[in-house]
Amino acid sequence: RISPSADIGLIGLAVMGQNLILNMNDHGFVVCAYNRTTSKVDAFLENEAKGTNIVGAHSIEELCAKLKRPRKVMLLVKAGDAVDNFIDQLLPFLEEGDIIIDGGNSHFPDSIRRTAELEKKGILFVGSGVSGGEEGARYGPSLMPGGSNAAWPAIKPIFQAIAAKADDEPCCDWVGETGAGHYVKMVHNGIEYGDMQLICEVYQIMKEGLGLDHDEMAAVFEEWNKGELDSFLIEITRDILKFKDTDGSPLVEKIRDTAGQKGTGKWTAIDSLDRGIPVTLIGEAVYARCLSSLKDERVRASKILDGPKDAKFTGDKKKFLDQLGQALYASKIVSYAQGFMLMRQAAKENNWKLNNAGIALMWRGGCIIRSVFLGKIKDAYTQKPDLENLLFDPFFQEATAKAQESWRAVIANAVLLGIPTPALSTALNFYDGLRHEMLPANLLQAQRDYFGAHTYELLNQPGTWVHTNWTGRG
Ligand code: NAP
Repeated sequence: RISPSADIGLIGLAVMGQNLILNMNDHGFVVCAYNRTTSKVDAFLENEAKGTNIVGAHSIEELCAKLKRPRKVMLLVKAGDAVDNFIDQLLPFLEEGDIIIDGGNSHFPDSIRRTAELEKKGILFVGSGVSGGEEGARYGPSLMPGGSNAAWPAIKPIFQAIAAKADDEPCCDWVGETGAGHYVKMVHNGIEYGDMQLICEVYQIMKEGLGLDHDEMAAVFEEWNKGELDSFLIEITRDILKFKDTDGSPLVEKIRDTAGQKGTGKWTAIDSLDRGIPVTLIGEAVYARCLSSLKDERVRASKILDGPKDAKFTGDKKKFLDQLGQALYASKIVSYAQGFMLMRQAAKENNWKLNNAGIALMWRGGCIIRSVFLGKIKDAYTQKPDLENLLFDPFFQEATAKAQESWRAVIANAVLLGIPTPALSTALNFYDGLRHEMLPANLLQAQRDYFGAHTYELLNQPGTWVHTNWTGRG
């Protein structure tokens, strides 16, 4: 009989799994490693895990026998069928109160389903977003666990120990019930698409509109990284712009301008359409990647379609760069406001009690969107947990108020110069839409009633729906 000695079992010895195991080991937890291809267990124990307290198993039965109770098994395998297969294989060897954690990039509806199915069997399930890639997994990821609430106290010491730290706080807290962890991870990825697209638009304006060279652009990002835009993505953009190929020219200009995507941004955009929440910035960011992929068509269009004639930026470049930073900042605020609006709606529809301040803290460090700015979002939700909209928080209300003139100037200039700014523009359009008490949807309702007798509600008599015979014909 094997005596249970391991604090947690981990299945899946590809990059993420191996690095998380080593991270857990660093923090004093005994991990038992298992992998479908069991030769990888031996290879791992003999190499990366040599000299550590990590143990291995060559069957699921052996793995479960080595775990202290309640057993905790974390899966870091390919999302989809592999997760369900392992859950089925684990079940015969688990007992009531044991915990299965899925740390892969699963789609949240799967985590909702798995939580319900496993809870029926007395097993607790956690679907956890893991962000930060290989490096994060090894030295401190952002972890977004959700699922069976009762699992949290048991996994909390391990999760918070291995997570990234921001201002000495772990970038990991309980997100909420059922699929909440994977949902928040999905929105995180969508926001990442938005942040990246915004930076790319700003780069195109600097390059094409202002004619800056790469070192000048890098210097602007360097400066921005010292202030309110201080973030991982601004920092790496600075480094990328500075990076020279062997011939001394900027490497970035040699990269084919077609963006790839794995689908989590698209999931967020589709989800926002399903829920009726205008997460326009992430939507535009996904479409911008789609347009970039139509390279051949764009090459043909570039020879046919007219842009502005002799458009040239003639203003004060230094002043404009400051305005550009403001436009980027304000657009980013809108993007996060939209993301939190979406999470609020998803929480309502799924009965999740989302921890908004905790979410901001989880993204504050360890992941691609980590930034100083997220500390401000955390403060906003800490001060007012039921904050209706991030833009209503005094700090962000003032920040957008201060930025808005610059934001408008940047977009107006980009339009005149013929430079596309889908994300910057949609952010401003959303902002202007949100702050309009009256939108032209009154006319839209009239149109719907005109051609389809859909009826309209009267402004001064809410709840009263009427139809008008607009043509006077019978
Ligand atoms: P991966 O390449 O996504 O998956 C490889 C692992 O999955 C291996 O252990 C493999 O076992 C196992 N596997 C694949 N198909 C299987 C099947 N049908 N049945 C059983 N096992 C199967 O590994 P990864 O890059 O380390 O990622 C693990 C998870 O974390 C994924 O869900 C990924 O999306 C997510 N994630 C990755 C990153 C990243 O930066 N890579 C970041 C965050 C989250 P064998 O060795 O036997 O083939």
